[in-house]
Amino acid sequence: MDAVTLADLPLREDLRGRTPYGAPQLEVPVRLNTNENPYPPPAELVADVTEAVREVAAGLHRYPDRDAVALRQDLAAYLAGSTGVALTERNLWAANGSNEVLQQILQAFGGPGRTALGFEPSYSMHPIIAAGTRTDWVPAPRRADFSLDTEAAARIVTEAAPDVVFLTSPNNPTGGSIPLPELEKVLRAAPGIVVVDEAYAEFSSRPSAVTLLERYPAKLIVSRTMSKAFAFAGGRLGYLAAAPAVVDALQLVRLPYHLSLLTQAAARAAVRHAEATLASVAKLAAERDRVAEALAGFGFTPVPSDANFILFGRFAHARAVWQSYLDAGVLIRDVGIEGHLRVTVGTPEENDTFLEVSKDVASTEV
Ligand code: PMP
Repeated sequence: MDAVTLADLPLREDLRGRTPYGAPQLEVPVRLNTNENPYPPPAELVADVTEAVREVAAGLHRYPDRDAVALRQDLAAYLAGSTGVALTERNLWAANGSNEVLQQILQAFGGPGRTALGFEPSYSMHPIIAAGTRTDWVPAPRRADFSLDTEAAARIVTEAAPDVVFLTSPNNPTGGSIPLPELEKVLRAAPGIVVVDEAYAEFSSRPSAVTLLERYPAKLIVSRTMSKAFAFAGGRLGYLAAAPAVVDALQLVRLPYHLSLLTQAAARAAVRHAEATLASVAKLAAERDRVAEALAGFGFTPVPSDANFILFGRFAHARAVWQSYLDAGVLIRDVGIEGHLRVTVGTPEENDTFLEVSKDVASTEV
């Protein structure tokens, strides 16, 4: 079977030559490369998830609730509580990670003959999901300091008139977030859907774009995930908030029973423990600021971050520096931005190790 290669398969022409998303998954002592929460879930959460899964396991011969109503109610309550916006399950949709949520959005609102626009550098999966759904991708620029010039962005959106605009706030991999009045300039200019990807919202002190839903119900979708602040990356649960009509649209493309009985039960248990899990957010934000300050002290230039990671530079040879970190047992991320690398904020001990290596790197590189 190995004699058959990708080139021998009748693959879609537009997928030939592409590379899959691939953050390395390596077993090293300090893993700071995929923006996970470094704190494992609290013991009570683990016990509650286990019990919830045990309870539903007896019903595994039946399909799960196709519309995941109870989970969507729980997520609506969490999001309403944290944003102050009245939301019900009719405003909420959930899937296996926000990547699947984003894919469903492009299946419904993008697709052949349609375009999606994003301001780069940003989350690398946005153009990959666009390619998978055959949505034409329109890359648009950020400022040299990676912030978003929203006046220019609104002009670009007016001219390009994309079917879908992605705004990532805080932006991955650069870390900055967009103040809501700025974000509204782009929202007003957009003729179609605007997805505000808030995967890292809990780490930011800015208000959420959820507060704008009432004003832009036919345009705005806010996507969220339990993978970061909720420390639930392994559970695979992403969600969005939007007008109920948007949820109706997504039901046209979602696969039936896409959220397993086990996922729904585990995610509901995790949401019940939101307060305990989210207690790590303040610790991580403080550590982020400590790490950024130390990096600056070593002569690096950290990009101001509102998330749980820091993009920093400049390096003459970022790839070689990435390897030096790895050789020292610290896995960080080369996100393909010239002269820069990204580090996820870890536990204080992990950050100390990262900073020790950084000090050595600084003496040879900067
Ligand atoms: N959006 C952004 C900006 C991200 O950084 C990520 C994860 N790296 C995701 C969405 C997807 O996360 P998940 O599928 O785990 O919810």
